[in-house]
Amino acid sequence: MHEISLVQNLFHQLADLAKQNKMSKVISVTMQIGPLSGVVIDSFQFGFDILSKDDDLIRGAQLIINTTAVTYRCSKCGATQQSSGVKPDGCSACDEQFLFAEGGDELILQKVEME
Ligand SMILES: [Zn+2]
Repeated sequence: MHEISLVQNLFHQLADLAKQNKMSKVISVTMQIGPLSGVVIDSFQFGFDILSKDDDLIRGAQLIINTTAVTYRCSKCGATQQSSGVKPDGCSACDEQFLFAEGGDELILQKVEME
């Protein structure tokens, strides 16, 4: 489960941020995670819950996850369609099967509230 190490990296990042801003408590963390990032959101949430219990800075903080959509662009006619991660069977305009994925691989620390 590589989400655990992602959460550990996140906590290191938060510790640095807290130090820079002379903060002692994280209230909430907002992450943007795309369906193509390879991150299983339930596992990420689980890792966050487990690891934050042992971390004075982050204990009790709220994790907010915003998922992003993937845009699939048709290689033939350029029509686009949005998907939450499942690749469409084909272009909705011309039925072409070969579609390019754009975006959806985000793993971004969007916002942190500290005090
Ligand atoms: Zn098309």
